[in-house]
Amino acid sequence: MTSTLETVKRNIQTAAEAAGRPARDITLVAVSKTKPIDVITPVLEAGHRIFGENKVQEAARKWPALRETYPDIELHLIGPLQSNKARQAMRIFDIIETVDRPRLARAIARISAEEGCRPRCYIQINIGREPQKAGVHPEAADAFIALCRDELKLDLQGLMCIPPAGEDPTPHFAELKAIARRNRISHLSMGMSGDYEQAIRSGATSVRVGTAIFGPRPPVA
Ligand SMILES: *Cc1c(COP(=O)(O)O)cnc(C)c1O
Repeated sequence: MTSTLETVKRNIQTAAEAAGRPARDITLVAVSKTKPIDVITPVLEAGHRIFGENKVQEAARKWPALRETYPDIELHLIGPLQSNKARQAMRIFDIIETVDRPRLARAIARISAEEGCRPRCYIQINIGREPQKAGVHPEAADAFIALCRDELKLDLQGLMCIPPAGEDPTPHFAELKAIARRNRISHLSMGMSGDYEQAIRSGATSVRVGTAIFGPRPPVA
């Protein structure tokens, strides 16, 4: 497990150098969804601290115990969030990467005020305009960013996207970067096991890598 971690880190280094970027500007989010604690622990033991999960309930089962041993963990929510689970998610996760609709953004703002916390947020953009996929359509991004940042005062740090499967992701990465630039947003979460090196060339500041570190997952039912 940790040799795959080392390989991914080395690939990130190489891709960053090739793009003329410092590797420290790129955060590796190790996506541990579906993986049990005994598979995650060696990666923690190897010194890695930044992880991504896509389900609130699963994260709630796994991570509070791990945090007792490794208090400096940084946990990213990378899956869809229902507004009625926002409070629980904000207790478990440090960063919510999937803010994608006004109702959820308003729930996070309200709970932040109630609980005196301010989670770091990313907005998920449905960069391929896919009907089945979560995220704000690119055409609606500027208005939603303004709502989150200016009206609701969320701690908006970045944009996140999952390009359509089976397409060249590069134009999609470029479009995400353009949305970020015109809105003066500095962080871009893009790139997974199959395309994180391309994403780094396209300006990713964090890549979400699961399979290449932890091996294949069981197919989703
Ligand atoms: C599962 C998942 C990943 C990781 O995918 P791999 O191909 O296993 O690297 C990244 N981002 C999101 C949003 C995911 O759900």
